[in-house]
Amino acid sequence: MTQLQALTNVKAHVLGAARIGAQRELKFAMEQFWRGEIGAEELEAVGAAIRADNWQRQKAAGLDFLTVGDFAWYDHVLQTCALFGALPGRFGFHPAQLDLKTYFQYARGNTEQFAMEMTKWFDTNYHYIVPEWSVNTQFGLHAERLLAQVAEAQQYATPIKLVLLGPVSLLALGKEKSADFDRWTLLPALLAQYKKLLVCLQEVGVSWVQIDEPYLVLEESKARLPQVEAAYAALQSSPVPLLLTTYFETVENLPALARLPVAGLHVDAVRAPQQVAQVFAQWPQDKVLSLGVVDGRNIWRQDVANILTKVQDWAKARKHLWLGSSCSLLHVPVDLASEHKLDATLKSWLAFGQQKLEELAFLRNAIKGEVDQRFLAAASQARAERAHSARIHNPLVAQRLAQVSASDAERAQPYAQRQAQQQARLNLPLFPTTTIGSFPQTAAIRQARKANKQGQLSQLDYLHAMRAEIAEAVAQQERYGLDVLVHGEAERNDMVEYFGEQLWGYAFTEYGWVQSYGSRCVKPPIIYGDVYRPEAMTVSWTAYAQSLTSKPMKGMLTGPVTMLQWSFVRDDQPRSATAKQIALAIRDEVVDLEKAGIAVIQIDEPAFREGLPLKQSVWQDYLNWAVEAFKLSACGVRDETQIHTHMCYSEFNDILPAIAALDADVITIETSRSDMELLRGFGDFAYPNEIGPGVYDIHSPRVPQVDEMVNLLEKAVQVIPAERLWVNPDCGLKTRRWEEVAPALQNMVAACQQLRTRW
Ligand code: GLN
Ligand code: ZN
Repeated sequence: MTQLQALTNVKAHVLGAARIGAQRELKFAMEQFWRGEIGAEELEAVGAAIRADNWQRQKAAGLDFLTVGDFAWYDHVLQTCALFGALPGRFGFHPAQLDLKTYFQYARGNTEQFAMEMTKWFDTNYHYIVPEWSVNTQFGLHAERLLAQVAEAQQYATPIKLVLLGPVSLLALGKEKSADFDRWTLLPALLAQYKKLLVCLQEVGVSWVQIDEPYLVLEESKARLPQVEAAYAALQSSPVPLLLTTYFETVENLPALARLPVAGLHVDAVRAPQQVAQVFAQWPQDKVLSLGVVDGRNIWRQDVANILTKVQDWAKARKHLWLGSSCSLLHVPVDLASEHKLDATLKSWLAFGQQKLEELAFLRNAIKGEVDQRFLAAASQARAERAHSARIHNPLVAQRLAQVSASDAERAQPYAQRQAQQQARLNLPLFPTTTIGSFPQTAAIRQARKANKQGQLSQLDYLHAMRAEIAEAVAQQERYGLDVLVHGEAERNDMVEYFGEQLWGYAFTEYGWVQSYGSRCVKPPIIYGDVYRPEAMTVSWTAYAQSLTSKPMKGMLTGPVTMLQWSFVRDDQPRSATAKQIALAIRDEVVDLEKAGIAVIQIDEPAFREGLPLKQSVWQDYLNWAVEAFKLSACGVRDETQIHTHMCYSEFNDILPAIAALDADVITIETSRSDMELLRGFGDFAYPNEIGPGVYDIHSPRVPQVDEMVNLLEKAVQVIPAERLWVNPDCGLKTRRWEEVAPALQNMVAACQQLRTRW
């Protein structure tokens, strides 16, 4: 212990805080600003208040640094582009004169320019704005806002660690926009601006710069070693010490990174604990090593006793050890204290952003010999309760799992035989038409749901209201002449929440929002226990809809991978195990739908590709269990029952074998914006089952014309045999209005009829 007490160089910090606000203040303020309801000054004030709240929390928790520079309008990658004057010239704005109004146009587009592209931030549900690199890219330095934030933070008289997205990641995360252009030629000019900025930061008294290079965990970064080395050689002269920060996975190229001339290194010890030993061995003793020990991606209270044992060992072996969140706290909700509806037991198992700060401070203090015994005892007790709670470990689920055999995840006969039986039952025309599930979620629907939730609309009245919506959707579809109908999903708020609310093992928060992109937030459910379906979830709605029509009514479910992917998941069993439990719950629903006479059942998996791990070397393992989970959910039915799946816009080409392995009778995909290019991959792969490439973009209010869709379908038949083609929109129609949906679907059916006359 004396040896430990001597060690005073242990510090605690977070890589970044959530910036949307504990009550989503920033979301509402940005949206008001966009609507012209508030001015820039008011919006700025909301941003400043969120920053102040974060710093007060960090200071009150006793962290060793205030993290500054993690706040961003809309997105931190976009913000970094603005900082370095690297926004695309096509908008025609001068980088030195960017007010908020012009700034947001890059993210949202304007009447002349389409918005910059957006894509997933590594394997999170956060989306960043993709930088555009071209021969015309120039850099400058526009640090006024950033320096102003440093000044704001200085009021708290705590050392400041400033966060910057690193030059290698910034370039790597963008897209090359001119032909034959190599983005890496931009590196020297970009580095010149980083160098200038670092000097400014030193002048204003910043203690450390956390330079985020998450790109260094991707396998492709291996090939960029020369650029990484050049970049950090150039920044060697930085007057502020640099903490090179990686997260989400093991770093590639560790031996080379360990030689970089930076003062510190941060690695993720939660998602990639296997790298800690190597990092210890290779990272120089006299430099700072920051270990991300508190999970920035999930909401579980940490087993601090267990972490402490490990960290104490590590602390003995290092002179300068920092303890951090594994990544930015952007990916978790702000504060558990806002939750008033979660019961005390469940709450005691959780830690949101605020609680994570406290965990870090506890660990730092404990290493220094000041163990907060009450904190430790409470955490250990919660952990122990969770390990044995009957709410988590459900014997019914264990029994159900024990009964599963390999044949449960296979249909009885191969697709060709099933197809004949399904055709005999459904008797569909060539190019059957259908939709993806949802119809417009009108204000009336949302009001009824809200009133029902608040107890102002009785169950019976709610039932009548939803049935009326369903009846209307069915009547509309019959009018358009669609072949396979849907009930329209009026009763669903959200495709995951709707099911999660009816399953055991799921919990929902009131304020557990995390930023998805811009002002958009999601509130992922928490899967805390064994997932179990106590009773049918959709059968009565679907059966009611079927009773209104002689056309086949498609049952509509969310698949196990998507249910998993869009939730906070258990950390006490592998994701694959949770997926299997959800799969069994969905399977029971599928079987119940079949028993109710439903002949076509769609199991949506829009998040199927999203689940891919960051490292390609372990993709196959994920794909194996994800496919297995889907098939387990789908294969409880007879061969004459037709299983559909649906996936939104994704890069399918590299996972086509897995998509084919799902063995869905029909898959519908989003393709219209790629001009059927995406479908080509399915054709080249000789995708064996039926497929419905989306023929129009549901994200746009524009009504597609008959000719356009005929044109797309003509392209489609060149790639996929006519007898295996379906005709449908890209995705669900819940964000559209009936006035758009009606002509669009009428045109779609007309396009299809034109095609039928020629086949
Ligand atoms: N069935 C869902 C709907 O139509 C599918 C949504 C999705 O793919 N994201 O809304
Ligand atoms: Zn979709």
